[in-house]
Amino acid sequence: MTATAPRIRPLVFLGAPGAGKGTQARAVAERLGVPQISTGDMFRDHAARGTDLGKQAKAVMERGELVSDDIVVAMVADRIVQPDCAPGFILDGFPRTVPQAERLETLLAQTGRPGVLAVNFRISYTNLVRRLTGRRTCVLCGEIYNIHFRPPKVEGRCDRDGGELKQRADDREEVIRERLSAYERQTQPLVDFYRERGALLDVDAEAAPEELTRRLLELLEAAVAR
Ligand code: AMP
Repeated sequence: MTATAPRIRPLVFLGAPGAGKGTQARAVAERLGVPQISTGDMFRDHAARGTDLGKQAKAVMERGELVSDDIVVAMVADRIVQPDCAPGFILDGFPRTVPQAERLETLLAQTGRPGVLAVNFRISYTNLVRRLTGRRTCVLCGEIYNIHFRPPKVEGRCDRDGGELKQRADDREEVIRERLSAYERQTQPLVDFYRERGALLDVDAEAAPEELTRRLLELLEAAVAR
């Protein structure tokens, strides 16, 4: 049971790895006052803490493959019933397969929530690869930089808190290829899944991050209201 009625429809940010979903989910979530739920971040956190789930996920992630639907769905089911999710939430990196999307629909219906609104981040393959190879993340606050497009003021250090900036283990070129191919095979069909339900908004994700946030907020303002 949620104490507060949802303020907005649950949002799903869809797009290839490197399309900017994480950066935008953080920015938009802050502005809308709802949590950002990144299944990738949750797995990385488990892996860093060395939990059983983390150990299982780590090997799969390092190969650029997807963790099993059962594991991911159970993790998300626990997360979205937490009190901070009551007003709404942004899912970043979930669902990633059609079965995950179907199970999300069931979960939402069971908890009396409205159906999701999906945002499809469209971007060229060349830009994806540049974004992924250039991505660096702050180990302290999770802020995302890019050495080509959005470098920090001091090399290797976060502008916010001076934390060390690290490259993700799966942002190496050989793993990137596998991740992009997993996206095409398993996640791309979700675009049609949500389009057929009239629940898809397309955005041009080639824009600069601040400009894209502005456009997204404009686009979502009317659409997310219940
Ligand atoms: P991300 O940070 O979203 O790029 O996710 C990093 C990795 O975590 C992916 O390459 C997968 O191995 C795993 N992962 C994250 N979300 C999911 C999901 N919804 N389904 C399966 N695996 C996932």
